Amino acid sequence: TTDAGVLDGRFAAAGRPLAAVTGAEIQAPLIQGGHVRYANLDYGASAPALSVVSAYLNEILPYYASVHRGAGYASQISTSVYENSRSIVREFVGGRADDAVIFTRNTTDSLNLLAGCLPVKDHHHTGEVLYLDIEHHANLLPWQGVPHRSVVASETLEATISSLRTELSHGDVSLLAVTGASNVTGEILPIRRLAALAHEYGARIVVDAAQLAPHRRINIAADDVDYLAFSGHKLYAPFGAGVLIGRPDWLDAGTPHLAGGGAVSEARLDGVSWATGPARHEGGSPNVLGAATLARATQVIAALDPQHWHAHEAAIRSFLVEGLRKIDGVTVHQIFEDSDPDDAIGVVNFSVEGYDAGLVAAYLSAEHGVGLRDGRFCAHPLLKRLGLPSGSLRASFGVGSRLEDVQRLLAGIEELRRSGL
Ligand code: PLP
Repeated sequence: TTDAGVLDGRFAAAGRPLAAVTGAEIQAPLIQGGHVRYANLDYGASAPALSVVSAYLNEILPYYASVHRGAGYASQISTSVYENSRSIVREFVGGRADDAVIFTRNTTDSLNLLAGCLPVKDHHHTGEVLYLDIEHHANLLPWQGVPHRSVVASETLEATISSLRTELSHGDVSLLAVTGASNVTGEILPIRRLAALAHEYGARIVVDAAQLAPHRRINIAADDVDYLAFSGHKLYAPFGAGVLIGRPDWLDAGTPHLAGGGAVSEARLDGVSWATGPARHEGGSPNVLGAATLARATQVIAALDPQHWHAHEAAIRSFLVEGLRKIDGVTVHQIFEDSDPDDAIGVVNFSVEGYDAGLVAAYLSAEHGVGLRDGRFCAHPLLKRLGLPSGSLRASFGVGSRLEDVQRLLAGIEELRRSGL
């Protein structure tokens, strides 16, 4: 659960600002009761589960039973919790009434599912998937098995959007696959604009919202986004559940993602009539607790006051970026020269000249209790293009993070440089 319950449902419900940016919290001692508080700066990988979400998990555990097929009381409760989770998630992302909400294992699973649902005519795909080279592998590799083409991002977002337009204008694109926010640098992409661009050329858009959903309100109906995927474990819920939401026509005609019990309306030994709706892709016993806790987490996040929420993360982000820039030999990386530094999520990427990223991360963990990530962040093409073929460092944070976490990170790097290790 989040450290010291900095944020739980009570704060959210009361619309209170997140405590982490108030003076008293910032001054909180690093050493409490003889223990150094662990500074978790790896939210981008998996965010700690909210205490209100783990409490909800305990609440529903006694009613845990098989969904859809049982007539018993617990089965009925589990079924209604599971099915109700779809409406909660739909509301969270501003889904259209007829959008399908399919529960999956995670974003990777969701995008693989969609790859099996691209339009086909006479056994051939009717268009290609177009994507940028800045994507997480989850939004690169599922498209390798279908007709696809990629565009190398330019130094500016504007030039990149022009390149996408050129590529789309050549025709034959059925789907533009794009991230809502970079897991490497935290930069946000203009999804409304990209949706309009894709539609102008008759393509659809899927947004990988694994990083965006934990940091920004999303409204797919207002932004005219066709498909959206995200993961519960990055959204303050426990591991194990993700979502794909979007237009039902492709999903109802696509290859069933998990063929098995529940995915059929009629099975014969000589053929099958596949179900439509989410059931088509959710064969087997679903992850009821994963879906329910994911939905619960979306309610907590939806109840946050967006202004305070963003101010909290922006304050930590700018403190960290400015602090890093002041340290000799530290470079902060970004993809686009023209992206708005004040409109990025809680992800900061950097490297320390002369130091291997893995060693810096290990040092910060062992000596300063700071957990961050090093490596290539499942985005090998982007890291290579940024001139970081052997990787860099990433600090990421969110709800419940405190300024002192990044202060400790900065102090750790300064100490490392001073020590001449
Ligand atoms: N997309 C982005 C932008 C991510 O950051 C991640 C995870 O780091 C994923 C997709 C994959 O998420 P998952 O591992 O939950 O499938």
